[in-house]
Amino acid sequence: MPLSIEALLKQTVQQLTEAGSDSPQLDAAVLLCFVLDKPRSYLLTWPEKTLDSEQSAAFDTVLRRRLAGEPVAYIVGEREFWSLPLKVAPHTLIPRPDTERLVELALEKVPVEPCSVLDLGTGTGAIALAIASERPELSVTGIDLRPEAAQLALENSQNLKITNTRFLSGSWYSPLTSDERFAVVVSNPPYIDKTDPHLEQGDVRFEPKSALVAEENGLADIRIISEQGRQYLQTGGWLLMEHGFEQGEAVRSILLELGYNQVSTAQDYAGLDRVTMGCWQG
Ligand code: GLN
Repeated sequence: MPLSIEALLKQTVQQLTEAGSDSPQLDAAVLLCFVLDKPRSYLLTWPEKTLDSEQSAAFDTVLRRRLAGEPVAYIVGEREFWSLPLKVAPHTLIPRPDTERLVELALEKVPVEPCSVLDLGTGTGAIALAIASERPELSVTGIDLRPEAAQLALENSQNLKITNTRFLSGSWYSPLTSDERFAVVVSNPPYIDKTDPHLEQGDVRFEPKSALVAEENGLADIRIISEQGRQYLQTGGWLLMEHGFEQGEAVRSILLELGYNQVSTAQDYAGLDRVTMGCWQG
């Protein structure tokens, strides 16, 4: 007997709850819409509709993956960030809502005149594309160590018809020419310490370690970005980096030691230290 959408959702929410999902309702709805290829409103409009056998089999497959812990964003291959639907893949971090705070703060620092912005460790291109979509007159560069990530970010820009971005592949600033200067450099780098138990929990287990973990208690990449940033920031340019909620003081010290000015830390939507920034006066 085929189940109705309503009954299937109810049953799925229960299974996901038992499996320990933090967001069982949302997971169930997103997975079902993915299989049905319909918007979310369809589930509410047609609760009595039943799935055909092909749809049921497809739903069983995706639900099994989710019950085994795989992130919904990897199963459906998409995650929304800054209202932009982005393709995601297992070689990129899944964009987080808190990283939108980094975008807001970066947009506040971008001068009014057209200029260049750099996003280091761009992954899906989330930060670069969010900034570029808000300010079409800017030139936004995204760099990622992994060529597959730079390629995915490029595909995302094409799907979204955002034309003021370019994506390069290489370690931090290395793909740039030495004369390039940016008004704003932004990054959500790896910043988790390798012994952090958080790495063994939930969605994070499936994300690339290279996008999450850094040496030196998670500060090694933040230090490199800050050190080398001095060469690529224009006078009065701003560096803004996301970091762990307990790293604000350490990141401010790094920026101050390197000679940045107006160094401060801003909080995420939960009120936790999340983004530290500094101005480079040259
Ligand atoms: N904020 C993410 C987490 O705690 C980590 C993102 C990152 O390392 N850049 O899961």
